[in-house]
Amino acid sequence: DALRADPSRELQPRQVPGYHYSPVTPTAVRDPHLLAWSEELAAELGLSRPPERGAAVEVLAGNRVLPSMRPFAARYGGHQFGNWAGQLGDGRAIALGELTAPDGRSWEIQLKGAGPTPYSRRADGRAVLRSSLREFLCSEAMHHLGVPTTRALSLVGTGEQVVRDMFYDGNARPEPGAVVARVAPSFVRFGNFQILAAHGEIEQLRELTDYVIGRFYPELGPPSADAYVRFFGEVCRRTAVMVAHWMTVGFVHGVMNTDNMSILGLTIDYGPYGWLEPYQPGWTPNTTDFSTYRYAFGQQPRVALWNLMMLAQALSPLVADVQALRPALDEYVRLFTFTRNAQLRRKLGLTRQADTDDAPLLDSLLEALAAAEVDMTVFFRRLAHQVPALLTRPAEEEEALEALLTAAAYPESSAEGLRQLREWLGRYLERLRQEPADAAGIGAGMLAANPKYVLRNYLAAQAIEAAEAGDLTPLNRLFEVLKRPFDEQPEHDDLAAKRPDWAREKPGSATLSCSS
Ligand code: AMP
Ligand code: MG
Ligand code: MG
Repeated sequence: DALRADPSRELQPRQVPGYHYSPVTPTAVRDPHLLAWSEELAAELGLSRPPERGAAVEVLAGNRVLPSMRPFAARYGGHQFGNWAGQLGDGRAIALGELTAPDGRSWEIQLKGAGPTPYSRRADGRAVLRSSLREFLCSEAMHHLGVPTTRALSLVGTGEQVVRDMFYDGNARPEPGAVVARVAPSFVRFGNFQILAAHGEIEQLRELTDYVIGRFYPELGPPSADAYVRFFGEVCRRTAVMVAHWMTVGFVHGVMNTDNMSILGLTIDYGPYGWLEPYQPGWTPNTTDFSTYRYAFGQQPRVALWNLMMLAQALSPLVADVQALRPALDEYVRLFTFTRNAQLRRKLGLTRQADTDDAPLLDSLLEALAAAEVDMTVFFRRLAHQVPALLTRPAEEEEALEALLTAAAYPESSAEGLRQLREWLGRYLERLRQEPADAAGIGAGMLAANPKYVLRNYLAAQAIEAAEAGDLTPLNRLFEVLKRPFDEQPEHDDLAAKRPDWAREKPGSATLSCSS
């Protein structure tokens, strides 16, 4: 305590210079029991659903380590909210090793919440059910939406309580603990490279880069300064595609620190993320970011670029001329816009016409959505439903557009914003009439591009509240529905509803903190 009274004299976390990872054993929990299981991922991995309790679930909780497993925690650093934070590392994620799937692909399996590691600093290495359920559901929901992401295999309750600062009152309260088994080809982050560069561990930096290229980017060829430049280019491209997806489904990551950026361009580390409901580019669910809004929805493309610049800096010792990395950053900007626009055109049923530049139309849509603050998901889905009628029965246009705007509007939607969006819709319909496909075909294409169901913040909160009370029905129903987000599933219409007014400011339904 005497030391802590002066923050500049705080104890340093244990440093692990020169190493990529540390072997570590998960800490057993009291009563591991299966709460949720991803059949789809399990099928890809060649695994089948285990019983609620027993040996398999003990493995998924970290209670049992199989002889073939070599559990480890990775060492990485990162920029948190723009500041270099030094060594972070897997403080509560423990990799069990790699599994080769029946199709020959190899997957790393990581337990999140399985106990302390050398990187836990002062924290406990545990995770609460609330945030584990959110990570489990969202990784799988994102996958089924077609967004590049890490996956989740299982959600296991630990039968133990974990104490966290709760976001509503700042008071610590015990909550049920859980462990998620998450799965990806690799969990290597920008931060794994950064920590090595920051400490001048250039041989290790080269080792890591050669390993990542050899394993995950073999098409780039044998190690050379040129291959490193091409590698950075590929990371830029994948990141651009990932962020373009986020921007067109309305996903807000919430904590885009460089340690939360995957070197494979996958959405990684689901913490205080959220889904845009009213289209507000300035919105973030993360209360920890309420002073700067650094990671708000509309900032994400720029933040990813900044993070890529930090990665470029880390890779610079490997390339003869740092300037050689510059074109990849330009390519990020170009490919992000290209991909986002291609996705927006798909959502709108537009195909590229040789004589038409749609970019101004797309840009003005984003401006109009922000002015109107309508529900992004409802707006696009309703539009997809109404387009066939709008194209074939122009006499009913006025009425149909009014119905669309009413369905998508929130109490905060301004009349002026709605007028702007209404005006945009008129221009859009003019453009849509140049499309060669028939109205029914265009409508069907749009329904396949605009999800009906996304993981709305209040729905996740409801599933959590029930699960904490021992009722898994809402979680199971939500999970099943989110596996087919583009299907109508009329019996689950209530899960496609706009955010209800009561959920507007409710902590957990509207806002979250980093504490998890
Ligand atoms: P995150 O905000 O989830 O990206 O975490 C930032 C850093 O804090 C990472 O190094 C995590 O491993 C670590 N961390 C977060 N929560 C815990 C915890 N409960 N126990 C140990 N380490 C943690
Ligand atoms: Mg993290
Ligand atoms: Mg996290």
